[in-house]
Amino acid sequence: MNAPARAPLMSLDDALDALLRNAEPLTRNEDETESVATFEAVGRVLAQDLVSALQVPPNDNSSMDGYALRCADVTEKGAVLPVTQRIPAGHAGTPLKPGTCARIFTGAPLPAGADAVVMQEDTREVGGDFHAVHIDAVPQPGQWVRRAGEDVTRGAVVLARGQRLDEAALGLAASLGLAHLRVARRPRVALFSTGDELVMPGEVPPEAMKPGAIYNSNRFFLRALLQRFGCEVSDLGIVPDKREATLAALKTAADHHDLILTSGGVSVGEEDHIKPAVQQLGALDLWQIAMKPGKPFAYGHVRRDPGVTGRSHFIGLPGNPVSSYVTFLLLVRPFLLKLQGVADAAAPRLPPAMPLRADFAVPRADKRREFLRVRRNAQGGLDLFPNQSSGVLTSTVWADGLVDNPAGTTIAPGDTVHYIALSDLLA
Ligand code: AMP
Ligand code: MG
Repeated sequence: MNAPARAPLMSLDDALDALLRNAEPLTRNEDETESVATFEAVGRVLAQDLVSALQVPPNDNSSMDGYALRCADVTEKGAVLPVTQRIPAGHAGTPLKPGTCARIFTGAPLPAGADAVVMQEDTREVGGDFHAVHIDAVPQPGQWVRRAGEDVTRGAVVLARGQRLDEAALGLAASLGLAHLRVARRPRVALFSTGDELVMPGEVPPEAMKPGAIYNSNRFFLRALLQRFGCEVSDLGIVPDKREATLAALKTAADHHDLILTSGGVSVGEEDHIKPAVQQLGALDLWQIAMKPGKPFAYGHVRRDPGVTGRSHFIGLPGNPVSSYVTFLLLVRPFLLKLQGVADAAAPRLPPAMPLRADFAVPRADKRREFLRVRRNAQGGLDLFPNQSSGVLTSTVWADGLVDNPAGTTIAPGDTVHYIALSDLLA
């Protein structure tokens, strides 16, 4: 049975709620975590708190090349102090005798007794050698000193379970001495495209394309997006618009994957093989989401063979490339992050929107909440891509963000609109 032609629309927030309710984190189960080298952990999600066994930095140390001294010994400019030791980074000095100073370099531990560093630019050597220096600035206690533990205190939770690791986080984990990190295993995702019109680039040259044929573009960005969000992808290619082929693809995929992701074949009125096939092997809801692009969207599950535990999630994205791309970022992204145990707070459903000035007009209001492809301009405002059709992938490449425009809202030049950076949605 096809969905009724005018199924009631579902709000994007309700669709997100329903999806996330079903996305039970894999990390509930200890077997679903793995230890990876810190070098390899970018993009992965921590499955344990990282508690520091030490303080960072481990000692008070100098943040400048210069001289370590006691402030009490320099009450006015031009004081002369003998230089009694030299402390490069990686070496410990000896306690500083009152009335003397130590040549010190960036990162070197402050010798006991010293309470400040004077940078070398504020000193002059006496008599052409470095055995004594004039101190030409009156130092303040703590000047050019990095305090022990100012970055990390011992026992602190430095990175929490559920945190997605970016490059900086790898560095921070390494600063605690951690060469391996326990992370959520990668979600296993089976990807396939539906549509008899689809041809793979490389198989048929442009001049030989049959009428009605188009190249499969969704497969390229969907595979790459899945990988970006930490998934292990089995790409099943193009599945013909036939019931048997669709059933076969779903059956093979379900046993070994957490999610089956498809594009195309979920529009209402479509010659639709996805819906009956998924329903035969599990359950499927076709949603009509009140958003543009991206109205048709399907969520369900596919049973596994008896004897294989659990079931596979199923998500059917619309076929139109822009709809597919945008629904991936707005709906599938949070779903995949939650599967890996990312806390809602760390990855809010929608990244924060920034108020920016529209340097364009949308004179006709739409019934649906619209995500307009826009780009920031040099005047601090936003330009609109002229063709907002859900088939025009050029708009998505041109854009650096989406304007989240509420249903029923027109936009006049100068209006403040809600801008969501694509870079935030890709993070
Ligand atoms: P559908 O959702 O299957 O009705 O497809 C909607 C539109 O998207 C049609 O114009 C399809 O030709 C197009 N389309 C579907 N899948 C893809 C794909 N993988 N790459 C490019 N265009 C697609
Ligand atoms: Mg189709």
